[in-house]
Amino acid sequence: MDSGVLQERADSIIIKRSGDHGCRQMDCEKASVAGSVSQRACVYCGARVVLNPITDAYHIIHGPIGCASYTWDIRGSLTSDSDLFRQSYSTDLREKDIIFGGAEKLKRAIDEIAITKQAKLIFVYATCIVGVIGDDIEAVCREAEEKHGIRVIPVKAPGFSGTKSQGYKLACDAIMNLIGNSPYKDIKKQGVNILGDFNLAGEIWLIKKYLKKIGIPVVSTITGDSSYASLMKAPSAALNVVQCAGSSVYLAKQMEETFGIPYFRVSFFGVEDTSQSIMHVAEAIGSEATIQQARVFTESEREKSLLFLKRYLPHFEGKKAAIYVGGGFKAISLIRQFREMGIDTVVVGTQTGKKEDYEVIENLVKPNTVILDDTNPAELEMFMRKMHADILVGGVKERPLAYKLGIAFCDHNHERKHALGGYEGVVNFTREVNLSLNSPVWNCLAGR
Ligand code: SF4
Repeated sequence: MDSGVLQERADSIIIKRSGDHGCRQMDCEKASVAGSVSQRACVYCGARVVLNPITDAYHIIHGPIGCASYTWDIRGSLTSDSDLFRQSYSTDLREKDIIFGGAEKLKRAIDEIAITKQAKLIFVYATCIVGVIGDDIEAVCREAEEKHGIRVIPVKAPGFSGTKSQGYKLACDAIMNLIGNSPYKDIKKQGVNILGDFNLAGEIWLIKKYLKKIGIPVVSTITGDSSYASLMKAPSAALNVVQCAGSSVYLAKQMEETFGIPYFRVSFFGVEDTSQSIMHVAEAIGSEATIQQARVFTESEREKSLLFLKRYLPHFEGKKAAIYVGGGFKAISLIRQFREMGIDTVVVGTQTGKKEDYEVIENLVKPNTVILDDTNPAELEMFMRKMHADILVGGVKERPLAYKLGIAFCDHNHERKHALGGYEGVVNFTREVNLSLNSPVWNCLAGR
């Protein structure tokens, strides 16, 4: 292994060898190595990513004020109705609360929100310190539900209790807790639920538009642009389609067991993935007419997108990409999307990818590509330099690293302001990659 890599991290790095076809095992889905500055977020943050987009829910962070800084402002998502989710509440635990317990403070916080805001749905997150002092937030939430006649759902998510993936699971459990007794569960099934898209920049609206065009109704979106009422209808859907598998396959499996709703994975990133996903949905629950409509629609959009891409291909000649994103599904989609753009991926990694994701990735990339699980800035920097990456696609934590190295950057996370999904996303992504990659500013930097 290259110098600069901690010995304990060696099995979480794969260099694709010629002739390998996704058969080697990545060491992943485990706690970060001590001393390695992981780019991962904590358990609580994982839970918050999934639950925060519920637009009319209240979120109380039971812990010190620092945890509460993780708000809509850094994990934005768009809404077509309520914007209550832009507010955050915290019990702001102090020294005295840590010594004598914070349950009473939490009770008062819930009472205040339930009464003054007429809240119908509150999520209560227990963060690290509550995991240490042991406040019984389940009992407090149960009492509050009885007292106010509303839903108050505990999310026991101390940051130290696992990885970000554990937070996703806790959020899925909280959603099942919410919809488990939905009055819609025995209603005749029709339409789809879209799971694992958080409407960061309006992607849910694009997917809904495509499905409407081919005549497939969307019952509920989980959780981008959702509301308490829309989530309660989710059990009446005939099919669940899962975009971000890392966060939402667990929920899809539970919904299959509890409500009998089958599911499959989709991806609305890139021309081919978007077209295939629309066709897959049409074939799964559509009539012959729907399938035909889907065929006509995807073929026409595909043709337009490829024509658009063709104009940009000369600008991308010989360029190489590095990808570091949260989950495996996005990394896989991005490798394919870069391939449509004529760009090779030379470094690719995820925070929470699973063994099967890494197998697909290893199958997709060319020999010598570096594949990383739960990497750190030092490794990422070393491999990007070594592989001569021209652009890094990542999130807010990766942006400074790219700029420090003097290479282009494209934000594919919550901070972005334009949609990168669907056919519109192909146009936006291609333009952004081109603008960043071919900016004259890189020629002025000594680091290049
Ligand atoms: S690691 Fe713990 S203290 Fe830090 S944000 Fe997460 S829950 Fe809060």
